[in-house]
Parts: sequence; C-alpha cells; structure tokens
Amino acid sequence: MSHKILVVEDESSILQTVQAYLQQDGHTVYTAQDGPTGLKAARALRPDLIVLDIMLPGMDGLELLRQLRQDSDVYVLMLTARSDESDKIVGLTVGADDYLTKPFSPRELAARVKAILRRGRGADDREPALVFRRLRIDAEARQAAKDGLPVDLTAIEFDLLHALARHPGRVLSREQLIEQVWGYDYYGDERVVDVHIGRIRKKIEDNPEAPTLIVTVRGAGYRFEDPPQ
Ligand code: CA
Repeated sequence: MSHKILVVEDESSILQTVQAYLQQDGHTVYTAQDGPTGLKAARALRPDLIVLDIMLPGMDGLELLRQLRQDSDVYVLMLTARSDESDKIVGLTVGADDYLTKPFSPRELAARVKAILRRGRGADDREPALVFRRLRIDAEARQAAKDGLPVDLTAIEFDLLHALARHPGRVLSREQLIEQVWGYDYYGDERVVDVHIGRIRKKIEDNPEAPTLIVTVRGAGYRFEDPPQ
C-alpha cells in the first residue's frame, strides 16, 4: 500500500538514499532540507509518516516536532547522531515515536517504516469500545476518554494504551509491547516503551508519579488496571 512520507534531512546523500528506498516500497516521498520548510511541508502535506533528522538548519528537529505536535499525531521516526545519547530521550519526550541512530542501514529504516505503516492490525476497527470504570477506549474512533473527557493521545500512544487495555490485569513485557504496537521485532531499546508510557501517564493518571491505571511491574513490564473511580 502506498503512503505519503515526508523526509526532513539536510544531508543530501542520506536524503537521497532514504528517498530511494522508500520509493522502492511504493511510497510517495516528499523531502525538505531545513526545519522551517519541513514544518510547513508537514502541515501542508499531512503525511502518514515523517522521518525527521535532529540537526537541521533553520530550526532543529526537536523544535520542529514540538511545534508539529501541537496539532498533529502523525507517526515520527527520528534520526539521531550516535554521540547524542540524550537526544534520543529528548526526542521521544517531545513526541517522536521511535528513533534510528546514525549511521543507520537504509534497509533497517525501510523495514521500520513498513512495520509501522502496517500496524493497526492489532486494533481491529470494528472492535467494540473497551469500557472501564474510568476509561473508555474506542478503537474505531481512535479516541480515548477519561471520566467522560477526551484524552489527547498521539497515534502510537493510543495504540500502546489500547494494547494494554485489551488485556486488563495481565502483564505485558516491553518486548511484547514493541512487537504489538511498533510492529517489529524487539531490537533492544526498552526505553522507547518507558518514555511513551510516561507520556500516556501524564495524560490519563490523576498522579503520574503514583499511577493506578498503567502499573509498572518491576522486571516484567506493564499492567493495565481498572481501579474504582
Ligand atoms: Ca542533519
């Protein structure tokens, strides 16, 4: 299936390689080589996925993402330099869904993109809404509500919450969650899951420091609970 993908990267050689690989998979690929152009393109083209470099002229990828997240839940795969260990976490914190470290294999990038665009098969659109005492999670509308009020989640946050809520009371490992939500085999970085759980908690928990809806099970993973109001 063809999707619209925007690649924002100022290094022409990387940009061209990524573009070629994604086009090979049948996607329509748009490109931008600086931050402001990338943000404008993201808003105008409404792509299905954005590959976003952090180091960009004009406006860096983190700032671009911060601004974009004000009104977009598009899937964002961030590119980071190997030396910038903290950039990965910052990127996830401001709203990236995943990241790849440079130098990366374009094949790996294409595989991740394919997996993520195929995703959603876990959440059958005609599945009845999951209704709990405090939360309602509607896969068809892709909408969650807490105590009757809508919760603003990104696409991946919604899928992660939905994956957990489909099995209330059951512990799901980070590995299982990566497979179900990101759609690809476990590749070693569990922090991706932890950062996203942290973001969901800020949106749904009364006290994110003492969560009652998504509980951490040490050494095992996460468990969805249905506490009384
Ligand atoms: Ca760059």
